[in-house]
Amino acid sequence: MNDNDTAKRLLYHNYANLSMAHAAIVAKRKDYGDKDYEIRSAMFRDLMNGTKKIRPISEDDQFLSKDHCNYCGSNKKLTTDYIFPKGAFPEYENENEMIACSVCKKSRKNMDLLEWMDSGEDFLPLMVIRRYFKLVHLFCLEKDLMSMDLDEALEYDLPFEMQYWPEKFWPAGDLKLVAKSKK
Ligand SMILES: [Zn+2]
Repeated sequence: MNDNDTAKRLLYHNYANLSMAHAAIVAKRKDYGDKDYEIRSAMFRDLMNGTKKIRPISEDDQFLSKDHCNYCGSNKKLTTDYIFPKGAFPEYENENEMIACSVCKKSRKNMDLLEWMDSGEDFLPLMVIRRYFKLVHLFCLEKDLMSMDLDEALEYDLPFEMQYWPEKFWPAGDLKLVAKSKK
């Protein structure tokens, strides 16, 4: 990550990577190919020049589970977890809240979602990562933060940690769209 990268560039870069990974997972490709890279570059270009918009966050509700942990798929000791700290973005509190098991919740503590994933062995489901970036996007638009760089981000009291956003995306073969129920 480059220090003068803006939230806008890093956010759209990650969103384009999510689109690439989504296409590869659906097609059951373990490695990214030319087709996936084309999807990524088109998505990045169109988001940057404004010809494409990130789809509404509510459209992803169907992918999130209400009866098992959205992180690991467990059906036991269910509770709720918050992508951003509870109450940090009251306008989107419903979208911020997700069913999770208390084991995951305890393991995450107060960590940023991507910081937590970084510290563990498993990748989070793509739809959970997408929700995180969609919330970040809404937050940055609302607070007029799309042009902030990493140094500024470290000075602000933000509900996310930009320094954990990956520059290089994870291998498609290691990712899944959603957490499958362990029942
Ligand atoms: Zn869990």
